[in-house]
Amino acid sequence: MSTRFGIRETPPFRKLLIANRGEIALRVIRACQELGVRTVAVYSEADARAPHVREADEAVCIGPAPSSQSYLVGERVIEVAKRTGAEAIHPGYGFLSERAWFARAVREAGLVFVGPPAEAIEAMGSKTAARQLAISAGVPVVPGTTEALRNVEEAMAVAESFGYPVLLKAAAGGGGKGMRVVRSADALADALASAKREALNAFGDDAVYVEKYIEGPRHVEIQVLADAHGNIVHLGERECSVQRRHQKMIEEAPSVAVSPELRARMGETAVAAARAAGYVNAGTCEFLLDRSGAFYFLEMNTRIQVEHPVTELVMGLDLVQWQIRIAAGTPLPFEQRAFTPRGWAIECRITSEDSTNGFLPSTGRVEYLHVPSGPGVRWDGGIETGSEIGLYYDPMLAKLIVHAPTRDLAIARMRRALLELTIDGVETSRGFHLRVMDHPAFQSGDISIQWLEENLPALTAPVRDPESLRLAALSAALLAHDERTSGRPSAAGASSAGVTAPSVPVESAWATVARHEAMRRS
Ligand code: ADP
Repeated sequence: MSTRFGIRETPPFRKLLIANRGEIALRVIRACQELGVRTVAVYSEADARAPHVREADEAVCIGPAPSSQSYLVGERVIEVAKRTGAEAIHPGYGFLSERAWFARAVREAGLVFVGPPAEAIEAMGSKTAARQLAISAGVPVVPGTTEALRNVEEAMAVAESFGYPVLLKAAAGGGGKGMRVVRSADALADALASAKREALNAFGDDAVYVEKYIEGPRHVEIQVLADAHGNIVHLGERECSVQRRHQKMIEEAPSVAVSPELRARMGETAVAAARAAGYVNAGTCEFLLDRSGAFYFLEMNTRIQVEHPVTELVMGLDLVQWQIRIAAGTPLPFEQRAFTPRGWAIECRITSEDSTNGFLPSTGRVEYLHVPSGPGVRWDGGIETGSEIGLYYDPMLAKLIVHAPTRDLAIARMRRALLELTIDGVETSRGFHLRVMDHPAFQSGDISIQWLEENLPALTAPVRDPESLRLAALSAALLAHDERTSGRPSAAGASSAGVTAPSVPVESAWATVARHEAMRRS
């Protein structure tokens, strides 16, 4: 039983099933525990010892490791919910979260889907349908078609009418798949064929349409919350411009590019789009914001998003708990003017990818994990010491989120938290994030969705062999100790064992990390 507005709150449900794994499953379990809702986890054979299985009140194995045989088998998930007496199913993100048929099947089974109605998922599910809906609601969209292209000739004619570059996009798209930038007419036919192939493979649907390719915009998205009684509020923006291959790596709230006036306009636009779709629950409208301040609707994500914590921190509310309350029929008690961002929040996605080696997925056992803490630091993780990292699931291991009074302080705090983080046994994106935090363009906020790719070499060049850095740091510390005790400067100085002293900031950061790690373990 928890209290809200000084009133004792009745748990929205007695029991809820979480149809997901990893950090988001734990996130939902935590929300439920605070609301007094009992939890049922489902898991694959590969996840038998995963933290979400242990933290839930009950857990049921639903099949072998491949998600097509476990986390994606909606019928089995529903059957487990009924058998365990769960009243509601939270789908998290990915997996079954945006499958309209699943939302409908949950409803038809007499259970509550913690998400929008199946009809709203359908309305926003295809990018072309969403564009049509947005246009009818008066929401600005990127110039482009609202129908799939029939052939190359049609693509050619449309591209000519907008002017190159254009972007081919899969109507069923997601995760940046089935997208191709085309800069001239002679590249169009090949790009169309490969976008269709990729779309068919990824989504079982080869429909591709075309948009004007906007150069140098920011990705700015608006969080909305809608209840079942017609109340809709927006919770301001998140900026997600640090992207690789159209996938987000770092997110923040608010955005340096959004004034209170622009926030209000984008917010009203997002609310209009949500209303047009008959939207209920938490959702996100994604926009491109160009340098002139014009913004264009891209799509609506009909689920909780990976980056939701930055909004929670600056707006001071628990989005997952509100998802659950809304699903139980609670009306939103807020007025729009209650929401003004407080301070600055940044999130780094910690993935098991080797950023110094083309972001190659890394597998293995987490031999040692040290989680950062201290003021303003939040860790939403799905791993622990001993976790096996395989190739079956998404490489995102955890999210490191910080909150501070200003953007500069948030960057300093993130840098400090990244230095505290130790994950041994698998390669991770930590070093990459440190470099971004140290980059002058990121620090000044002068970035666009192309910034990361344009600066990839500088942000991902291999750091010197970590073992020699570790040795260098240790021997530098020993030399400094010698100097202090003997009173004589050492001839070797900080340069020893053939390794020169770190020069650029991030490398000195690595040396600090190596020193801390050595000390923690000893
Ligand atoms: P997905 O659903 O595959 O993630 P989105 O439509 O959300 O696809 O686009 C993903 C990213 O691709 C955006 O955040 C943006 O960086 C880029 N993008 C999408 N449309 C355009 C466009 N018309 N011009 C330039 N970049 C775009």
